[in-house]
Amino acid sequence: MLSDGGSAREAWWRHSEPKTKLPVLLTISTTHQPATDISYLLHKRPDRCQSFDLSFGKAHVFYPEATNEKTTAALLLDVDPIGLARNRNQNQSFLLGSYVNDRPYVASSFMSVAITQVFGSAMAGRCKDRPQLVDQPLPLTAMIDVLPVRAVDGFVERIFEPLGYQVSVTTHELDSQFPDWGRSPYASVTLHATTTLSQLLTHLYVLIPVFDNNKHYYVGDDEVEKLLSKGEGWLAAHPERDLITRRSLRHRPGLFREALARLAEVDERIDETDEVPDTAPEVVPEPVLSLNAQRIGSVLAILKDSDAKSAIDLGCGEGKLLRELAKVKQFERIVGMDVSVRSLEIASEKLRLEPGNERLSLIHGSLMYRDKRLAGFDAASVVEVIEHLDPPRLSAFERVVFEFARPRTVVVTTPNKEYNVVWESLPAGKFRHADHRFEWTRTEFQTWAEAIAARFKYKVRFHSIGPLDDAFGSPTQMAVFAIES
Ligand code: SAH
Repeated sequence: MLSDGGSAREAWWRHSEPKTKLPVLLTISTTHQPATDISYLLHKRPDRCQSFDLSFGKAHVFYPEATNEKTTAALLLDVDPIGLARNRNQNQSFLLGSYVNDRPYVASSFMSVAITQVFGSAMAGRCKDRPQLVDQPLPLTAMIDVLPVRAVDGFVERIFEPLGYQVSVTTHELDSQFPDWGRSPYASVTLHATTTLSQLLTHLYVLIPVFDNNKHYYVGDDEVEKLLSKGEGWLAAHPERDLITRRSLRHRPGLFREALARLAEVDERIDETDEVPDTAPEVVPEPVLSLNAQRIGSVLAILKDSDAKSAIDLGCGEGKLLRELAKVKQFERIVGMDVSVRSLEIASEKLRLEPGNERLSLIHGSLMYRDKRLAGFDAASVVEVIEHLDPPRLSAFERVVFEFARPRTVVVTTPNKEYNVVWESLPAGKFRHADHRFEWTRTEFQTWAEAIAARFKYKVRFHSIGPLDDAFGSPTQMAVFAIES
């Protein structure tokens, strides 16, 4: 049985004063018997409602149900946005943003702070009255009433399932009166596992803020210590370790790098496999300036410069580069190739391609296989594609492009992993989806490209695309290979 946030909330309404806003709710239920034992672990009595003053508002703990069969504890947060605005410079982008924001309504870093302050002993695993329960895995269900998930399918699962939770995510319409407005970016999330209460609270403490795009309330200099100590025993082995760390320490690139370095030390004994699960795309906010447009511009400039008369775009996707190539007379023959039939259909529509167009055409194929149709071009581009290939199969790609197709010029772009920390702090514009199997630092990319150049007798040079950060480089990195003459 999943806990019922609705009835917990109703129970709260019954004994609270009339309010104008809905507070944030986390419930934790168990069916371990006697289920009321959870109240000893939580150090909160089941027969009364307790309230706690926190720096950003109030937290209330109460039990919507407390029987031997099933007990549910609710932690309700009443965040005071006006008090917050008075107390802190929230660095909002518009003046009213301090007052009109989602802070009071969504589980965020405030929820994490409340968990440590209200359930600190339970999280630390201290319990005088029922010490044997501290390390005992119990059937536990947590329900987070309103988690900002930004409509990314599979994101919540990617974060919680590796830790052994059964995850259920319920999204809602933004407004049932106006179905056209689409889905709300907030969801109710239920997590179920047989685990210790201390572990569950720790996971919630570290992971709830991962979903929150705002500046975290509690990011301070001791944050790395907190993250590492709370993440001990599970974070280093989590497949989304980098993402969790990056998002937890958002807006603090220095801290992020330090945490990663230290997690890597902790992690040395763990085997890294090349296989990255084919999970739902990560959502990364694109910088306001369209990076995509800059990328296309840079690649186009290189192709023009190479004096190519024919060009093939490998992994052409929906054909954005092809459209620009088609505008340039110099290119007498242009081909787009992709493994995704769906993308090719979209490209074909967008480019208004008619059968028999000899100048511009699309072919279905894969960069994993030697293919005669890829040979005979002056230039090839491979824009934001390699990171979608499984690392063990990159060597097949290398031979297909540089040995068999062998155009005079090859342009390859890929994200610069180092830049991600900077990127996250830029104002969120559009979201982009990325099914990336890996992302490389500048050194990793350059080492790879130089090895190719040496092996297949090309010369290679490197360019940055997008805004340049002194420490982290630019968001996109580009290698331009040319056959030595
Ligand atoms: N170059 C485009 C699309 C990048 S997205 C752009 O910059 O907008 C990556 C593209 O690579 C997708 O369209 C995907 O279908 C394609 N792709 C992935 N694996 C591939 C493979 N093995 N062979 C060819 N294309 C592949």
